[in-house]
Amino acid sequence: MNFQALAKKYDTPLYIYDFDYIKDRYKNLKTAFKARKSLICYALKANSNLSVIKTLAKEGAGADCVSIGEIKRALIAGIDPYKIIFSGVGKSDNEIKEALKLKILMVNVESEAELKRVEEIAKELNNAARISIRVNPNIDAKTHPYISTGLDENKFGVDIEVAKKLYLYAKNSKYLDPIGIHFHIGSQITTLKPFLEASKIIAQLVKNLIALEVDIKFFDIGGGLGIKYEDEKEIDLYEYAQGIFSTLKGLDLTILLEPGRFLVGNSGYFLTKVLYEKKNSSKRFIIVDGAMNDLLRPSLYDAFHKVSVVDEESSHSTLADVVGPICESGDFLAKDRILPKTKKGSLLVIHSVGAYGFSMSSNYNSRPKVAEIAIEDGIDRIIRKRESFEDLIRLEEECL
Ligand SMILES: *Cc1c(COP(=O)(O)O)cnc(C)c1O
Repeated sequence: MNFQALAKKYDTPLYIYDFDYIKDRYKNLKTAFKARKSLICYALKANSNLSVIKTLAKEGAGADCVSIGEIKRALIAGIDPYKIIFSGVGKSDNEIKEALKLKILMVNVESEAELKRVEEIAKELNNAARISIRVNPNIDAKTHPYISTGLDENKFGVDIEVAKKLYLYAKNSKYLDPIGIHFHIGSQITTLKPFLEASKIIAQLVKNLIALEVDIKFFDIGGGLGIKYEDEKEIDLYEYAQGIFSTLKGLDLTILLEPGRFLVGNSGYFLTKVLYEKKNSSKRFIIVDGAMNDLLRPSLYDAFHKVSVVDEESSHSTLADVVGPICESGDFLAKDRILPKTKKGSLLVIHSVGAYGFSMSSNYNSRPKVAEIAIEDGIDRIIRKRESFEDLIRLEEECL
């Protein structure tokens, strides 16, 4: 990738995504599951740029959405309503109503209270709402506590006994159509075991439900596949698929997957320019034009992203922190890295930022959101324009 040329053409800071990589990842995952009916519902929250969604839509992907905004993005990008699922622990009445009106595949219900709300709203619309219930299998995904979601102590889903009760309730309701079951145990998971343990537990529950004449058709195994940021080893997709199949023996279900990070994480590069270098006592800082408002993961999760210097001239490398211009000590992109001497204008690449990068960005410190570009078949194109100062103040200006 010619970062120099891209910086020249589009300026920095800049998000760059390799769309060929995204398509390959989708195809690899789909192929691994080809022995069974499956639908890959891309988790939009990882990267909800319309061009990213459209690229996956063209490959046949569905969408896992956590707000009505994401559902609208999925539809605009060309995803069929019957491939869209609506997840999330706190959906508002209006969001539920709109989602039902749009006739999406199903609403992933996360609590008894929500099940009753969905039923009431479906009744108002005089229609049966297709639902699945998110079940918490109480499995430790052994990942960062902020992104682990499958344990009793988390706010997500309901436990097995409650789930059973809710399915029976839903089966007997005129306005609820329980067609799916769902679990999602966390994110950035790099071992197969927790997935298979969870799948086994939920598959057993499905067998019990079928015996009770609850007609489950969709088995939603969530997202959470980990990627390589540093030296992690990715789960083998064939083993993943075969492992899931082995838990579903005797069950004829469509497998739903909700990958986010897996599809887009390593497609992304964040390109940023050095403003200054400085030294405080013993510490070396490389101050760049990108910041925590553009890429929050290092500050929020202490996440590691590889950093490289484009066209490095100096072979003399020492320890440095890469920091942004924001007035927060937490504003860093990398800490304690061995990096060569840089100068004003040197380009740095932050790697593996395709997921939870731009989608988590903000305007903190009145910094306009950066531009996003795609590279596909060797050709670069803009997929989100750089925000201007006028964009930032538009909604306030008219209120003065
Ligand atoms: C965030 C989320 C995903 C995607 O997680 P990844 O780790 O990016 O694959 C999938 N499903 C649900 C319900 C989520 O909340």
